[in-house]
Amino acid sequence: MYRQRCGGSSPFDGTKENSFLHLASKRVRSTLEQRTLRRYEHLLFLTCEVPYTFCMKNSVGVICRVGLPILMLWCGVCVAQKVAITMDDLPRNGELPPGVTQAETTKKVLAILKGRHMPPVYGFINAQKLERSEDGAAALKLWAAAEPVGNHTYAHMDLEQNTAEAYEREIDEDEPALELLSGGAKHNWRWFRYPYLHEGDTVEKRRAIRAYLRARGYRIAQVTLDWEDYLWNTAYARCAAKNDAKSIEWLRSSYLNTASAFLDLGRAQAKLIYGHEINYVLLMHLGAFSSTILPEALDLLKKKGFKLVTLEEAESDAAYEGDPDVDLHDAGTLLDQWMQVKQIKYPEHVEKPYKEIESVCR
Ligand SMILES: [Zn+2]
Repeated sequence: MYRQRCGGSSPFDGTKENSFLHLASKRVRSTLEQRTLRRYEHLLFLTCEVPYTFCMKNSVGVICRVGLPILMLWCGVCVAQKVAITMDDLPRNGELPPGVTQAETTKKVLAILKGRHMPPVYGFINAQKLERSEDGAAALKLWAAAEPVGNHTYAHMDLEQNTAEAYEREIDEDEPALELLSGGAKHNWRWFRYPYLHEGDTVEKRRAIRAYLRARGYRIAQVTLDWEDYLWNTAYARCAAKNDAKSIEWLRSSYLNTASAFLDLGRAQAKLIYGHEINYVLLMHLGAFSSTILPEALDLLKKKGFKLVTLEEAESDAAYEGDPDVDLHDAGTLLDQWMQVKQIKYPEHVEKPYKEIESVCR
């Protein structure tokens, strides 16, 4: 059993688990209340499988009878934190090692997602990458046959470097590929992910693009957890080309250390901004390193007590209704934006190894 991390979920977000938490913490004493708790036994089973099973099998024992409500209380505060995984820059982020195709990389990543019975993972595409690339088209077809797709602009345009009008054209130009790829699929492709997470360096641009997206039926695929995983993709391609096992091992450990630190940082940010944790949306990029590191990254999420959910479920959290609505330059995730707007001091955290990644296997 892995023990769920005790997260401070919001008692107000309306989920079953949190309703339970609310009930359990306030009203455990009376018989009537214990009956209420029994209705939530299936939820407890999910979060505290081993001790719960042990107690149920030994329920004749006085200790268990007395201890169960206490155990349930303890379990109630250990409700998993929800996170939706999303992948950007499809069909490919960064460089690939020589001889490795985009289709192969995609196939391996899809096999990992399927093997782990993951909820649907949105892939945000740049249709320009399909031009004159049969490999890119093959990779995207594989992805769209298995997972949903969303809009990431046609050519990965930076809103800070372009006008709102040019940006709107880029959103439009990505759509024919999205429509074709999802052809009749049950998934809604009208989800938009801002390239570079740049939502507008002027408030006019920010509002113009938000209004444009709204009018066209899009929802914004916000990001609330990010460790800039893309940094490792091209570095891995270089190291794999050199068959440099030692450097690849360093990439692996530095990736996981950074991921762990920035998962903790994101949660700390949410608590500082909202006073409690939220449902998260994690940004990843599909590239050379993805299929190598993804199993360990998913294990890390599990170890930290995250429960994987769909993007829709993650963004049903009220945290995603807010808009900082100010001009921001290269502000990062939604949480980073709020930290800046509310002038909240960052908790201590490690820096990402930018320089080392940039120079490795050169
Ligand atoms: Zn991107």
